[in-house]
This record gives sequence, C-alpha cells and structure tokens, in this order.
Amino acid sequence: MPEFDLIARIAQRVGSRGDVVLGIGDDAAILQPPAGQHLVVAMDTLNAGVHFPSETAPGDIGWKALAVNLSDLAAMGATPAWCTLSLSLPGSDTAWVDGFLDGFLELARTHGVVLVGGDTTRGPLSVCVTVHGFVAPGQALRRDGARVGDDVWLSGTVGDAAGALTQWNAGQPMTAALRDRLDRPTPRVALGCALVGLADACIDVSDGLAADLAHVAVASNVGIDLHCPDLPASEALAMAFAAQEQLRLQATGGDDYELCFTAPTASRAAVARIASELQLPLTRIGTVTSAAGQVRLLAADGTEWLPPRAGYEHFAG
Ligand code: ADP
Ligand code: MG
Repeated sequence: MPEFDLIARIAQRVGSRGDVVLGIGDDAAILQPPAGQHLVVAMDTLNAGVHFPSETAPGDIGWKALAVNLSDLAAMGATPAWCTLSLSLPGSDTAWVDGFLDGFLELARTHGVVLVGGDTTRGPLSVCVTVHGFVAPGQALRRDGARVGDDVWLSGTVGDAAGALTQWNAGQPMTAALRDRLDRPTPRVALGCALVGLADACIDVSDGLAADLAHVAVASNVGIDLHCPDLPASEALAMAFAAQEQLRLQATGGDDYELCFTAPTASRAAVARIASELQLPLTRIGTVTSAAGQVRLLAADGTEWLPPRAGYEHFAG
C-alpha cells in the first residue's frame, strides 16, 4: 500500500477538537492554543529492539509510544491537547498500522488528545511522537524546584516493568500483571494536573527511580534520601522476586512512568486528598536534604544501600 493510502487510513480514524484549525492533510497543521497559556512540548522515540522487544504487539507499541510522551507532559503538570506521529516502517503493512492505531488512538481518546500530523517513511521500525499541552504561565512542575525539607512522593508502584523485562531477558514467561505495565504504562495525566500549585518539583520515572531523582537533585541543587522499606511494590512484583532483587528493580528499574514529586510537609493532607480523589496511591518515600546532587537509598537501619546497577543509559558502556 502506498504511503498516501497509509496516511489516509490514519487520517480517517483520528478524532477532532475545536482548537484544531487544520489537521492531517496539508503541508502542516494549524492549531489554536488557548489565550494566556504556555505551550508545553515533549518528544520521545521508541526503536524496535531498544525500547520494546521486536515481537511486541503493534497495539501495545502504539499505546506505549503515546503513553511515554503523555507521561512527560504529566510530569510538567500540563494538560495534553495535540500530538504528531512519525512512523518509520520496514514495509507498508496495513494490518500492523491498524493494530498500532488501535492502541495509540485508544489512549489518545482517553485523554482527549488529537493526532494532527506526522510523517511516514520506510526504514527500520521506529516510532516518534510529539505531544503538545498547556499550562498556566509559571505553574509548570519542573525538576529544579525541590526545596530542602520537602517530602518525596511517588505515585503507584515501581519495579513492575523492569520485573517483566528481567523475566523476558531470562527467557522466563512474564507475569501477566508485570507485562501489562511494561506494554501499557498508565501516564499519570490527572495527577500531574492536580499537583500544579502543590508540588515543588516533579519527574516521571522512566529510567529508574534513583537515576531520575538524581536529575531532580542536580537541577534543584539539593540531595534526596529515599527510605527503601517505604518504596511501594505491587503484589505481583513481590510474588515474583526475592526481597533484594525486588528492591533493585524498584530503585533502578525504568519504564514504570509513575510520577515522583516533592512537596512541603505542610501539604501532606492535600496530597492525601488528591490520592483519594484520583484513587491512586501516593506514598511518601523520602526527604529532600541539603547534600547537593546526592541521592541516597537508606535501608531500614539507616545504612546506605548501593544498588548493583544504575538506571538505563543509552550510551553507557
Ligand atoms: P509532506 O511531503 O508535505 O511532508 P506528507 O506526505 O509527509 O507531506 O504528509 C501529508 C500529510 O499527512 C501531512 O498533513 C502530515 O502531517 C500527515 N501525515 C503523514 N504521516 C503521518 C502520520 N504517520 N500520522 C499522522 N499524520 C501523518
Ligand atoms: Mg512529510
């Protein structure tokens, strides 16, 4: 099927929004941002064999390609609106594109996000998505806002996606609940928006909790002490791995796309209210310290626990 037919196939299925003046079909899209808002833009690429096992179902790839981008907007406290999609495909496989769109558009619809354009080329399987969202000026949740004495909070549980990947790498069957979190992560969009005006700093956990918090520590010129026994784990993770391996996955495993944020201790009740409104567990896992740039993982007895491996880094080694 020629490229234009593939694009027509995509265009046929996308939804609409009042602020899309011109969507797919011309040389570029025309969009109307709301007056007085800042535009927040993020882009993430997924490459076959690097970001997902090559045999991943197309629908899961579609879901995840958008999810990781929405997670970046969530971490900024932005409300998503539009996205663009660059598809590099080895061949023009309509069944693959249809499956991909099933996952991609299911998540887009959930968040009222409309696909307004993109690019379609031939090449190794690769998916690049850009998302655009809005936030009130000065209100974005940034990495550089953490303050000494803040609590450190985490949404949901961490370690599941890395647990699934560990099982897959070992040639073991993946636990369904863990695999689901690897394939179809939930971007915490509503949480990000609810944290505006409340959190001092925020980041999404994509490379591993310790590695991601190191970015916050450096950007904010503070330290972060995490209390290992408080790190939340799912039942599935606890069932599948021994305690030390579970802790390693929680502290260093990536791909969970939970939000980690810091907030003043005076905001504990407000955080608890958000957790109950969103029906999303928010767990206090540590404290912001004055030890500039340092992230420490503290065991129950207060001694420092050093993980065997740091978070995922593309150009390491
Ligand atoms: P051009 O040659 O001007 O770049 P294209 O043929 O690449 O035009 O794109 C034609 C239209 O289709 C544009 O509006 C573009 O945004 C849209 N488009 C192309 N590929 C995709 C895609 N994968 N997803 C969404 N829109 C796409
Ligand atoms: Mg083009």
